[in-house]
Amino acid sequence: MQNNKLLIGIITGIIAGSCIGGFFPEAGQSIQFIGDLFIRFLMMIVMPLIIAAMISGICRFGDVRKLGPLGAKTITFYLATTALSVLTGIVLVLLVQPGQSGSQADGNTVNQGIVFEETSYSIENGTVTLENLPPGTALNHSHSVTLLDRSITGKVSSREENRLAVDSWMKDGKPLEQISGTGKGIAVQKLMPERFLEEKRTITDILREVITGLIPRNIFQSMAENDILPVITFSLFLGAVLSTLGDQGRPVIDFFNGLNEAIMKIIHLVMYAAPVGIGALIAGRLGEAGGFIGFLPELLRLGKYAFTVIAGLLIHSLIILPLILKIFGKTGPRKFAANTSPALLTAFSTASSSATLPMTVECAEKKNDVSPRTAGFVLPLGATINMDGTALYEAVAVIFIAQINGITLGVPELSIVFLTATLAAIGAAGIPEAGLVTMVLVLKAVNLPIEGIALILAIDWFLDRCRTTVNVWGDSVGAKVIDRFVRLANHQSR
Ligand code: ASP
Repeated sequence: MQNNKLLIGIITGIIAGSCIGGFFPEAGQSIQFIGDLFIRFLMMIVMPLIIAAMISGICRFGDVRKLGPLGAKTITFYLATTALSVLTGIVLVLLVQPGQSGSQADGNTVNQGIVFEETSYSIENGTVTLENLPPGTALNHSHSVTLLDRSITGKVSSREENRLAVDSWMKDGKPLEQISGTGKGIAVQKLMPERFLEEKRTITDILREVITGLIPRNIFQSMAENDILPVITFSLFLGAVLSTLGDQGRPVIDFFNGLNEAIMKIIHLVMYAAPVGIGALIAGRLGEAGGFIGFLPELLRLGKYAFTVIAGLLIHSLIILPLILKIFGKTGPRKFAANTSPALLTAFSTASSSATLPMTVECAEKKNDVSPRTAGFVLPLGATINMDGTALYEAVAVIFIAQINGITLGVPELSIVFLTATLAAIGAAGIPEAGLVTMVLVLKAVNLPIEGIALILAIDWFLDRCRTTVNVWGDSVGAKVIDRFVRLANHQSR
């Protein structure tokens, strides 16, 4: 499909998906399965793609000794851009101070969740009946409600229209029983999922896991679990050894070359489904968030914080990375970005760098003229360890949580945030909301309450999409710049 046609198709899909999910949340949710099909198609090709692309790429190098410098350049590039990105985030969040609310009322609103002052309620036997609750309000078993006039909070166990079954009522940290009566004004807040509270690892544990995880215990298990790093190591070894075998290795190399071509063809076909798949994913996710009525108040409540994250991501992706691309990759950013846009929009809709990998490889090789040998090596590695957007987001979120809690972080703590956010992003997998989990480690490193995550949870699905797009953009720019270095080195050695 022509680039322009595909792009117009995807943009139409996004607009249609946003309208369906935004205005008719239930209809949006009902077409979510079409988006799931699209993700499944992408995930289906990720593992074969990594193996075939890496092996065939490595064998094209001719001399395995060239892999060392390529690996070193790739890791240096990734680390440097991630660090730049974190730095941008830290400077911005310190300047904007999103957590230092202008008025007490703002601060309360952020802490309490979304406040509905006009909503009246009546309670009987733990069942709360609400009146004047705006239709479409996101309120289900993943929320708690606070009755503002009594300052008591309970967990929603189920919802039927405007009737909520609420249990575990608490006041000032003490459990309450037998509540009844009527009143006015409620606040709704997302509950903290167990997985965050159970996260016991430290940043060193994560790094140790990344390093030991490089070597697969069982390559098939790693493939089945979509664990990319061990599969990269296996493919690297196999490719390197095959390229030294001479005639004996030739048929196997030919097999992987053929497999690689076939997979690139499949990706090309999957691209045709991108407009519908991307649109359905957006419709589904927006529908799940209660449409515009459910999502926009959450976004506005955390507006300053969301603005800081998005502004940081924009500075990194529209200024810093394009400059790097221009200076080191000698490539015009505009055309490069237009060519990469199918991958970027897929990243936005799937919130997963790993699921986007097939599109990223296709755009790099077929549209941006990155040689398959570089793309095959640099992009799978980037999808798992290079996360500029995630690193920036983690730093901003952690400092925001400190500000909300009235804690000022000094230079030593900020340096710890800088380091741990960079490492936590390396440790995050290329799957939805992985960055939120590794952020727990950054919070712990500077002794901040992990409960702070509950504040930003409601809009994380949206920011996840924004940061994943920047993650994939960073990988793509990296592939182009490194490819130029490889070409230059080859030219010089001739
Ligand atoms: N979803 C992101 C990615 O796949 C990771 C994150 O949660 O930040 O790149």
